[in-house]
Amino acid sequence: MLDNRHPLLRETCFIAGSWTGADSGETIDVINPANGQVIGTVPKCGRAETRRAIEAAQDAYLGLRKMTALKRADMLMRLHDLVLEHRDSLAQLLTMEQGKPLSEARGEVTGSAGYVRWFAEEARRVYGDVVPSPIASRRILVIKEPVGVVGAITPWNFPSSMIARKLAPAIAAGCAIVIKPAEFTPYSGLAWGILCEKAGFPAGAVNILTGDSSEIGKELCEHPLVRKITFTGSTRVGKILLQQAAVGVKKVSMELGGNAPFIVFEDADLEKALAGAMAAKFRNAGQTCVCTNRFYVADVIHDQFVERLTALSAAMPVGDGAKEETVVGPLINQAALGKVEELVADAVEKGGRVTTGGKRHALGGTFYEPTVITDARRDMRFTTEEIFGPVAPVYRFSSEDEVIAMANATDFGLAAFVYTADLGRAFRMMEGLKYGLIGINEGVIATPEAPFGGLKQSGLGKEGGHQGIADYLDEKYIAIGGLGV
Ligand code: ADP
Repeated sequence: MLDNRHPLLRETCFIAGSWTGADSGETIDVINPANGQVIGTVPKCGRAETRRAIEAAQDAYLGLRKMTALKRADMLMRLHDLVLEHRDSLAQLLTMEQGKPLSEARGEVTGSAGYVRWFAEEARRVYGDVVPSPIASRRILVIKEPVGVVGAITPWNFPSSMIARKLAPAIAAGCAIVIKPAEFTPYSGLAWGILCEKAGFPAGAVNILTGDSSEIGKELCEHPLVRKITFTGSTRVGKILLQQAAVGVKKVSMELGGNAPFIVFEDADLEKALAGAMAAKFRNAGQTCVCTNRFYVADVIHDQFVERLTALSAAMPVGDGAKEETVVGPLINQAALGKVEELVADAVEKGGRVTTGGKRHALGGTFYEPTVITDARRDMRFTTEEIFGPVAPVYRFSSEDEVIAMANATDFGLAAFVYTADLGRAFRMMEGLKYGLIGINEGVIATPEAPFGGLKQSGLGKEGGHQGIADYLDEKYIAIGGLGV
């Protein structure tokens, strides 16, 4: 009945090529954050179902590793085509469970297809090395092989593309994968199962299951057949998974929290900086790990920048993401709303001045007004904590050294943005900022061709670029002796 409501809405899990419920029959409700209504349910799986998925993945991996890279690439290209064919439908589903505006959801789905295509292309370029040997009768080879079964845990803020970035390199490398999407946005995850099935993936190559996150996470980390854990989410959960994965010394990739600085120098093109600022702050209502957390604006242009940022923020249409005119959707849930309210209250108490917004939106639910806070200071909580909401704190600065020190004074190191027209300054900033991704005069920079990944407590490993497949490969050194001279 519910499956008829949306062609890609599936309320069962995809394990070993079959669609099944939880052993216990228990389910979890999935809520539309724009109206608080239950969209449907998904199975509440635990360790037993996860174990079955891992065993199916191991069987599939044994086949995938023997399959030619060309065949795996073709399989991924079929998936790519299917994602694009169903783009609008996938975007609707994504907006329904996640809340982001439809235009952003379409962009995310297109981006997902882009990652699948990139890794389809990369599948055929997994080269080894032949190394000059110091011994004349010996040859040295370095070969690369798929690591085996991969366990993937993904977040709710990019429920489609965070799966694409893991599923595609895994399959490209010849691995099989067990994926646990976030409990708030499972349908975009399960839809990957529908498309992989249509694309003719072997049973067990891709398994997607929903349920108890800590039970599924533990099984993925502890099961000896799982050789790699890849995770996108909070630093808190990332640390739990790192500890659990340490027991079996598994490979790990971690895309964790951020606290992006956005630095505007007096020589910047103000219009471009403002356009970049709006995109870097308010995309997905501020709920991305690369969203600006702190604006640093040079003293001389501070007031002008704040005035314009305030006007632009106040004019943004807030509403249900399913309406075409919406630019800022709801926050994912009440807990997210509560956190934003706490951070704003803390800033105001410490002398922050709200120039627009600063409270829940009149629409109710989990909507929050786009907000700008000036006179931001170091002791305010958002200086070190991730906001994950539509709130833009603005700090002042007067020198390059000062702003580099302020920007780097965080445990995170994911994304940073700098606006300047001075080439020397641009280089000093890119070298001085301890961040894994840096946009110079650009506010949105993630792309399949480039390695996405954080430094410090923002993570380990890269997704995208030629680096993105490396974490799914083992390297073996082989010495062949006695060959004569
Ligand atoms: P966010 O703050 O973005 O919600 P989380 O780190 O809480 O990030 O969630 C990201 C993913 O991690 C989700 O799929 C969630 O279900 C999962 N998760 C949460 N807690 C655990 C855990 N203890 N073990 C494994 N996965 C977990």
